[in-house]
Amino acid sequence: MSSSKANSQSGLVRTGNRDFMKEINLSIVINLIRSRGPLSRTDIAHSSGLSQGAVSGLTGELLATDFIREIGGGQSKGGRSPVLLIINPLAGFVVGVKLTEQSIVAVLTDMEAAIVHCTTTLATSLRDPQTAIETIIQTVETTIEESDVPRSKVIGVGIGLAGMIDSQESVCCYSPILGWRQVQLAQPIEQRLQLPVYIENDVNALTIAEHWFGEGRGLPHFLVATIGRGIGMGIVANGQIDRGAMGGAGEFGHITMQPGGPQCGCGKAGCLEALAADQAVVRMACEALAAGKQTSMQWAAQDPSQLTFDHVARAASEGDTVALAILNEAGRWLGLGLSYLVNLLNPQLIVLSGEGTRTGDARLEAASQMMKQHIFDQLDKGLELIVKPLDEEAWARGAACVVLSEVFKHPINRDTRAGLLGVV
Ligand SMILES: [Zn+2]
Repeated sequence: MSSSKANSQSGLVRTGNRDFMKEINLSIVINLIRSRGPLSRTDIAHSSGLSQGAVSGLTGELLATDFIREIGGGQSKGGRSPVLLIINPLAGFVVGVKLTEQSIVAVLTDMEAAIVHCTTTLATSLRDPQTAIETIIQTVETTIEESDVPRSKVIGVGIGLAGMIDSQESVCCYSPILGWRQVQLAQPIEQRLQLPVYIENDVNALTIAEHWFGEGRGLPHFLVATIGRGIGMGIVANGQIDRGAMGGAGEFGHITMQPGGPQCGCGKAGCLEALAADQAVVRMACEALAAGKQTSMQWAAQDPSQLTFDHVARAASEGDTVALAILNEAGRWLGLGLSYLVNLLNPQLIVLSGEGTRTGDARLEAASQMMKQHIFDQLDKGLELIVKPLDEEAWARGAACVVLSEVFKHPINRDTRAGLLGVV
């Protein structure tokens, strides 16, 4: 199948009429202002190749809809200093939702992904899709209401959740945490809220946030790896999120590192997750207690089920050598896994994030060293590893960025529901 046929069948290509050409030019202007602003009209004409007249017309339309704003003068080469243009952060708002088994966290953000309001709804179980859908709708409504932002200013809702997500079809294909298979999540919520709803794998949503508004801004090749209860990954290659053929790319946690090794939650054995994630740390601590090792975690020897990841992390921070060795071991497995990613994908940057980064140096330093030892010659040149701890709000903000990215995308790649806030 030719690519043009594939695109027209998926509804991504509009006919090449004048409106579409204008939409492309507006997108060029908006993205120049977003990525390099504040800019003068002359700067925009120079960088875009558009004529001064065209830039005046396009920026005039964007000003009329309040999408951009004028701010004070820039550098003048004699005469009157030029007026500069910025994106108006209050031009519109989006809601991002992070869905887990027992909670829904929703944030309302402005156009620069700054959080305006946050709401958390706790639930005993969201494994029933209908319950989850109703709870998401209520949480989004509450978030908008409490934020005091007019509902007419809200342009869409993004939902992030763990698992295999078909974001094109808005279907959760498989979520092990929620026990879902083939759940149509977006459509019923969209109908009730009367807003476009996008769903995305939660780590991909975080990656989109880093790509558009974070550490990966302007980088064509970078990875986001998350560590916590599980291990996940998002891939940006050639400036685009790479989801793979079925939305399943990035199952980094389930690379087999040790055939026949410890049991993993996915049903297989020896996965990276079973050797390096938080539960692996707890397992190793229980094994150390069973072996009678001298440690400040001795209190849990009678009932190891009481031992949590936080206990091990705290013991390590207080200098417990057994806890430190365990985190070191988990870190070394993680670093070996990261070296595979570098050798396969040659990223410029890896953002290491997730709740599991809160343990500080013990695990992460070991990971960094192990990664460096196993990288193919030269591939570490210019490679940056940034550790970025995050909380539930940051996951929800990632989901909000999925909607924002649709607004700012080049029109040919943009979902047709995400117009430019009524500009065209
Ligand atoms: Zn696994």
